[in-house]
Amino acid sequence: MTNTAKQLKQDYGDDPIAVRETGKYVDEYIGGFVEKWDELIDWDQRAQSEGRFFIDLLKERGAKKVLDVATGTGFHSVRLLNEGFEVISADGTPAMLSQAFRNARANGHVMRTVQADWRWLNRDVHGKYDAVICLGNSFTHLFSERDRRKALAEFYAALRHDGILILDQRNYDIMLDSGSKPRHTYYYCGENVQAEPEHVDEGLARFVYRFPDGSSYNLNMFPLRRNYLVNLMREVGFQTVTTYGDFKETYQQDEPDFFVHVAEKR
Ligand code: SAM
Repeated sequence: MTNTAKQLKQDYGDDPIAVRETGKYVDEYIGGFVEKWDELIDWDQRAQSEGRFFIDLLKERGAKKVLDVATGTGFHSVRLLNEGFEVISADGTPAMLSQAFRNARANGHVMRTVQADWRWLNRDVHGKYDAVICLGNSFTHLFSERDRRKALAEFYAALRHDGILILDQRNYDIMLDSGSKPRHTYYYCGENVQAEPEHVDEGLARFVYRFPDGSSYNLNMFPLRRNYLVNLMREVGFQTVTTYGDFKETYQQDEPDFFVHVAEKR
C-alpha cells in the first residue's frame, strides 16, 4: 500500500505484533497521523524543552553543512535553517517531506528535500556533510541488524573525514527490563498526545498514540538497547561515541527517557 494523504487507516493485518519490517514506516506515517502530530506538538514548546543542545553542539564542532536524514515534518531542519546552517532534508516518507516543505515555507525558507531511504542513502543524497542528524527516535524503525549496519555505513559515508553523527533513541532498556511493572504513559508537550507501549518484547515495541479527538495510531518499532547501538556505531567505524541523557517528556524519573549519541568519525 502506498502512503497518500487520503489513506485514513493504518493497516497491520490480522496480527499486528507480527509486523516487524524495516520498510513498514512508509505506511505507518499516513496523512492523518502526520498532520495531527504536527498540529498538536507545539514547535515553540518543543524547542523550549529541547533547548539549544543540538545547535550548540553543531556550532562548537564548526559544522556548517548538515544532512537531516529523518526530517519528518521538519522541526530540526527548520531550527537549523533559522540558525544559518546549510541543511539538506531527507526522509523516506513523501508525506513527511511535503509537510516539512510547507512548514519551512511558513518559516521563510525553501527547504532542500530529498526522498531517500537510509539503506540506499548515498544513491540519492550526494556530497559530504559536516554532520548527519537522525533525531526523534527514528533509527528504531530498522528491524534487522543488517539494515542497521547498512544505514550506519551510509551515514558514515555521507560524512566528511572529521564529521559527526548525532542520533537519538528512546531509553528502551528501562522498558525491556521493567518486567511486570505497570505500563507507563508518555505525554508529549503537555497532555495533547499520549503515547503508551502496547506490546514490548526483545524484537518489538508497539506503541499507541492517542489524540484528544479520540483517534489513535500505532507505530511498530525495534527496541534498541543502548549498549548494543553504541557498539554497532563503533563497529561500522565511528571512533568515539559519547552518549547524553535527555529528558524529553514531561514525566520525570531517575533514568532519562531518551539518549543522544554523538558519534565521531575521526
Ligand atoms: N526527526 C523528526 C522529528 O523528530 O520530529 C521525525 C521523527 S519520525 C519518528 C521518524 C522519521 O524517520 C519519519 O519521518 C520516517 O519517515 C523516517 N524514516 C524511518 N525509517 C526510515 C528509513 N529507513 N529511511 C528513511 N527515512 C526513514
